[in-house]
Amino acid sequence: MKDHLNPEAETPQDAPADAMGCHSKGEMAAAARKAGQSEILDQYAKDYPTGPHDQPQSMCPAFGSLRVGLRMKRVATILSGSACCVYGLSFVSHFYGARRSVGYVPFNSETLVTGKLFEDIREAVHDIADPEKLDAIIVTNLCVPTASGVPLRLLPSEIDGVRVVGIDVPGFGIPTHAEAKDVLAGAMLNYARAEVKAGPVQAPVGGKSDRPTVTLLGEMFPADPMMIGAMLAPMGLAVGPVVPCREWRELYSALDCGAVAAIHPFYTASIREFQAAGRPIVGSAPVGHDGTAAWLANIGAAFDLPADRIAAAQNAFLPAIKGALAAKPIKGTITLSGYEGSELLVARLLIESGADVPYVGTACPKTPWSADDAAWLEDRGVKVKFRASLEDDCSAMEAIRPDLAIGTTPVVQKGKQMGIPSLYFTNLISARPLMGPAGAGSLAEVVNAAIGNKGRMDSMREFFEGVGSGDTAGVWEGSPNLQPQFRALNAKKLEKAARARKAQEMI
Ligand code: SF4
Repeated sequence: MKDHLNPEAETPQDAPADAMGCHSKGEMAAAARKAGQSEILDQYAKDYPTGPHDQPQSMCPAFGSLRVGLRMKRVATILSGSACCVYGLSFVSHFYGARRSVGYVPFNSETLVTGKLFEDIREAVHDIADPEKLDAIIVTNLCVPTASGVPLRLLPSEIDGVRVVGIDVPGFGIPTHAEAKDVLAGAMLNYARAEVKAGPVQAPVGGKSDRPTVTLLGEMFPADPMMIGAMLAPMGLAVGPVVPCREWRELYSALDCGAVAAIHPFYTASIREFQAAGRPIVGSAPVGHDGTAAWLANIGAAFDLPADRIAAAQNAFLPAIKGALAAKPIKGTITLSGYEGSELLVARLLIESGADVPYVGTACPKTPWSADDAAWLEDRGVKVKFRASLEDDCSAMEAIRPDLAIGTTPVVQKGKQMGIPSLYFTNLISARPLMGPAGAGSLAEVVNAAIGNKGRMDSMREFFEGVGSGDTAGVWEGSPNLQPQFRALNAKKLEKAARARKAQEMI
């Protein structure tokens, strides 16, 4: 929260638009609507429905779209937003190994309100639009420029052959960084679809496949598309590009597929583009025995293939998956939560490996493309919580006291404090193959090793017992200097702000 930019501001209501932050959601959204951004906010509300979890509880959502752009060849990225947001975003992107600079067009209150910021952005885009080096430039409005209505749609759509794609990715319209990936992927597919309509486009680097292809939607472990390709081969199909793509021309081949597999089910804007191009969408993914059997059947149906072709693919892979699952069993109770969008798929794999999974929380919303996975899990007594909040995930873990908690950083931190072995979903689970025979036994090693660590967790908890917790944690020379009066004052201020907000809503 950046209310410190205006030390005079008592409450978020008093703060100017450029002094609001992640926690000023309502005020920012109202400002954006006043600034003419209603259409885009309404579209986001449809694409990324909120509630009960309706604002980022993890990293800034714009990290999702930033990372998608930074991973693409010959694509430059420019952010427009508050310096502290851009600092955080560029720090995280370099922490995660970005090999390119993040462009930034700074602003102050004056350039923001006079429209000079937009001129500065346009100048920056013209400065770097070199067709020798770039296929596209992605310009992203963060919270404050979105709330102030900086009109990226007025940027030229192309400069000397370099495409310019402007997107608004505010924390008050995009609830998770996963969905921000879709904002950019959808915008690029939309652009590429218009190019395809307008005339011939570049062919894929490796040439066009002689078999009909399946485009994969969602970032996955690098070996997974190859495994999926092997499973499609007996049906006479090939694997197409993975969206988000790594290169602009891949967008054309992604659109030029026979069907789209929504491996990650939250890519609503991208799916809209594929549907507009007339491509059928298949939900769920080839995970575990049941998931692979159903997915191959659904893909076959999307291509109208005869039953024997589908059976050939199933017979070629299902016994191997069964064997791999049986060879590497998982025993224990596991709670699972995350914000990647693949949580339901991982839960299916864990259950087929023998684990008891009473709770799965995902920060992503319910969509038609995760319906089969949710139904499969619910049939096995799993509580599936879409748009789960951190509080949902933590209370499930506290109530169940599992042998292993798989979750986001704060869930894992809480789990470890309670002496529950815990694993980070993003770093340790997402970074493994999940599909087909390769995915079938891949979780057992890390999961069983973690469950086996219970004794170590207990002795660590005993070791740290009595060192304090929360704001009194750590080593103190005297007793912690508690200041309950400051806390009471802040609580009063927050109450007053909430009352004022309520009164405002009733006017
Ligand atoms: S851009 Fe990200 S970090 Fe900045 S205020 Fe918005 S949600 Fe928060």
